[in-house]
Amino acid sequence: MNYNYHTHHELCQHAEGTAEDYVKEAIKQGFKGIGISDHTPNPYLPMPERGWRMQMSDLAYYLDDVRTVKERYKDRIKVYTGLEVEYFPGYDQFYQHMLSETDYFILGQHYISDDDDIKKMYSAFGLKTKEQIHLYKKYVVEAINTGYFDIVAHPELYLFSYQTFDQDALEVAEAIAKAAKAHNVLLEYNANGYRKKMIETSIGKQYVYPRKEFWEVVKRIGAKTILSSDCHQPEFLYDEVIQQAEKDYHALGLIEVEQIPSLEKSE
Ligand SMILES: [Zn+2]
Ligand SMILES: [Zn+2]
Repeated sequence: MNYNYHTHHELCQHAEGTAEDYVKEAIKQGFKGIGISDHTPNPYLPMPERGWRMQMSDLAYYLDDVRTVKERYKDRIKVYTGLEVEYFPGYDQFYQHMLSETDYFILGQHYISDDDDIKKMYSAFGLKTKEQIHLYKKYVVEAINTGYFDIVAHPELYLFSYQTFDQDALEVAEAIAKAAKAHNVLLEYNANGYRKKMIETSIGKQYVYPRKEFWEVVKRIGAKTILSSDCHQPEFLYDEVIQQAEKDYHALGLIEVEQIPSLEKSE
């Protein structure tokens, strides 16, 4: 592993460490590049923000913190400014503004809503019905189609509670993989799932994500993939858990991409 674009920051209030702490760890691990991508602030979301994402008032500090280490360590490692963002239709000005301040976006669709003004939200960790997983599909496909996102984080999050990989789960996987392929968006094999629970599935015991059934679909459709550690502590950037996930990831035979193509071009 030479790059990690899915890296958090203490500002989200459930991670530890500053941008510098993660950059130092990346240098220690011999990485060529690291992108900091903390949970975006979003003034339009109705839920209590504390504990889940940085505050809007912390954004300037965040951008400055990453910019400072980008400059300080520029001879040793490439540092990028990112954000992990949920997509909701109708807020294009907001996304375009946030993109103008950063190098890239990761789609982390932790919430979906079935009304347009996002007053009623569902956690993507708790989807239970066919209708809900198809709604998740609609959000993710629409987000991919906007062109705002370079990576889809843990794309199979819809299987967290809806654990049976049935015909509907298959359709969701196919739609996401096809959209990602068509728009050259990378699907993330999220190694942080290896720190979560294991579940019993029809093909045996596995982590709640990544899910083998999902990645088989990605392989068949031929969408590009990337490995991320989604670390919330600096020492989790590339520890033995991530190294195990890396081995499993390579064994899947997916199309692997190490660098975000648009950032590679700008170098
Ligand atoms: Zn987080
Ligand atoms: Zn994350």
